[in-house]
Amino acid sequence: MAPTKVLTGARVVLPTGTVDDGRVIVEGTRIADTAPDAPGSVETIDVSGHWLVPGFVDLHNHGGGGASFAGGTAEEVLQGVHTHRLHGTTTVVASAVTGDLDFLARHAGMLAELAQQGDIAGIHFEGPFISPCRKGAHDEELLRDPDPAEVRKLIDAAHGHARMMTLATELPGGLDSVRLLVEHGVIAAVGHTDATYEQTVAAIDAGATVATHLFNAMPVLGHRAPGPIAALLEDERVTVELINDGTHLHPAALQLAFHHAGPRRVAFITDAMDAAGFGDGRYMLGPMEVEVAEGVARLVEGGSIAGSTLTLDRAFQRAVTVDGLPVEDVVQAISATPARLLGLDDRIGSLEPGKDADLVLLDADFALKGVMRRGEWVVAPQLG
Ligand SMILES: [Zn+2]
Repeated sequence: MAPTKVLTGARVVLPTGTVDDGRVIVEGTRIADTAPDAPGSVETIDVSGHWLVPGFVDLHNHGGGGASFAGGTAEEVLQGVHTHRLHGTTTVVASAVTGDLDFLARHAGMLAELAQQGDIAGIHFEGPFISPCRKGAHDEELLRDPDPAEVRKLIDAAHGHARMMTLATELPGGLDSVRLLVEHGVIAAVGHTDATYEQTVAAIDAGATVATHLFNAMPVLGHRAPGPIAALLEDERVTVELINDGTHLHPAALQLAFHHAGPRRVAFITDAMDAAGFGDGRYMLGPMEVEVAEGVARLVEGGSIAGSTLTLDRAFQRAVTVDGLPVEDVVQAISATPARLLGLDDRIGSLEPGKDADLVLLDADFALKGVMRRGEWVVAPQLG
């Protein structure tokens, strides 16, 4: 059996607050309460001067490391998953993009097998049931109104691993589709939407609980027409996704959302595409061609912003060092809140005895220095 690992001397961010000079004990794949008596089997690692935080949980991610979750083979998806693990994301939901319905159903079947094996935490369908007015980087020709029968087809194709679907809920069939998703235990997310404030309130009342990248691909906040942003921010039932890469949102917009919703209702996501953790160049996002220059992904045709090249370690560092958010709040928004939303908070999302030993080690400047997933180092501690 693998030796028990004891990490000592770190600033450990626990659900109850930060403990200076704290320790985390890892036995097998789990966090243990106390060290065992047999000292021979204990490996102690001094990580003084570092932070220990829970592994990151990404609800919305299309790929990385040159590989696509939206169209790649199983091998490619695993390559993307590994890339994000190297950046601290120990749990990832694979996001599909708008595509032909039969293709999406087949692709979901493949992703479902990876979810069954525990490689991904399920599937997020972003499209095709979104608004042509707010299509972002989605192929307009393949967009459709949310027909509950077609929504059902995708849910079934995912064999119990559909976790979330992004919809323009104001379209015909939108509210019935929200209700259908909720009935099947799938998160209904409002996004790529042209809805009014009132239409968004109706969607939340029907059961929608997530805002897909709040601010992006939806009408702006107007004082006479507050639109979806106000409805999604004000409602306690809704968690808002934010892409904190410095490109998708002005820092003031991020602050506004964070302070209004609070860390228990914010989930930091990457919305990453293949170039994340890889580099500039030409890529495909589903059927759409994307050019990545200086880390910003845009459609070749039309120049619409097309996902990000963000990894959650950078989102974390930026949230603390640029946005000035408290570390504990960032931990909440990057681990605990998304874990709870996925219904996985009994296993992941915080550092507590009995939970999976998913840990991220950060230095004093919040740069990533180690990643452990289920008790195994994915990135061995770099203690310089
Ligand atoms: Zn996306």
